Amino acid sequence: MNAENENRVKILGVPMDLIDSGQAMALFEEKFPEPGLTMIVTPNPEIVLAANKDESLKTLISGADIILPDGVGLLYASKIIGHPLKERVTGIDFLMDILDYLEKNGKSVFFFGSKPGVARDAARNLQKKYPALKVAGTRNGYFKPEEEEEIVREINESGADFLCVALGAPKQEQFIEKYRKELRCGGAIGVGGSLDVFSGNLKRAPEFYRNHGLEWLYRLIQEPSRYKRMMQLPVFMVKVILHGRKQ
Ligand code: UDP
Repeated sequence: MNAENENRVKILGVPMDLIDSGQAMALFEEKFPEPGLTMIVTPNPEIVLAANKDESLKTLISGADIILPDGVGLLYASKIIGHPLKERVTGIDFLMDILDYLEKNGKSVFFFGSKPGVARDAARNLQKKYPALKVAGTRNGYFKPEEEEEIVREINESGADFLCVALGAPKQEQFIEKYRKELRCGGAIGVGGSLDVFSGNLKRAPEFYRNHGLEWLYRLIQEPSRYKRMMQLPVFMVKVILHGRKQ
């Protein structure tokens, strides 16, 4: 669906929807009730860089129903190539909009991923924020490949309407894509470390950092071991400057 679409801009060959968070939610509300699984991805510059080198990852992202730019680097890149994106829409913010929608519409969610206990604690905290939210189930994100079918069965048997997968990118997107036809949920999103934040294990950057495009800096202070991954950002920017306009 939607692979070649004038409402999408390509950054290093990877498509992104030219929509703000309100329009993204409207798109979700339109697609979610349709048959099949509505797949939402929120690539950051690191994933765009990986997809630029890996055709199968690029195909996977292109096949999603909603592709939201999660990172100011993507906004800068879109300006450089002359097709400015509307705004950054992070996975965690979009997930909160979805939970609000699910709560209002009596739909249920399954939280899958992160270390043992994290999804459960996140669900408990989120139910304080969304008291009528139905949580169909939770499961940690550490498993052997041969356990995958059993996990899909567990999710399906829970009757969840929506699936939230926190395995880190691109593992979470690969899981959703692999079982897209088998999963009976109406929608799924990959949310990286969001369950860690909701469980209280990881602090989200204060508003100042978020509003100034410095969330990455806050994360680096909290998790210094991420510095190697973050070195990808300047690599990404240089690549966009050198090759971006040709895409
Ligand atoms: N994780 C998991 N299973 C794995 C690897 C990672 O459940 O095999 C979880 C991990 O505990 C963390 C999340 O996936 O909660 C990764 O978060 P991160 O912010 O690193 O995601 P990314 O930035 O890679 O999207």
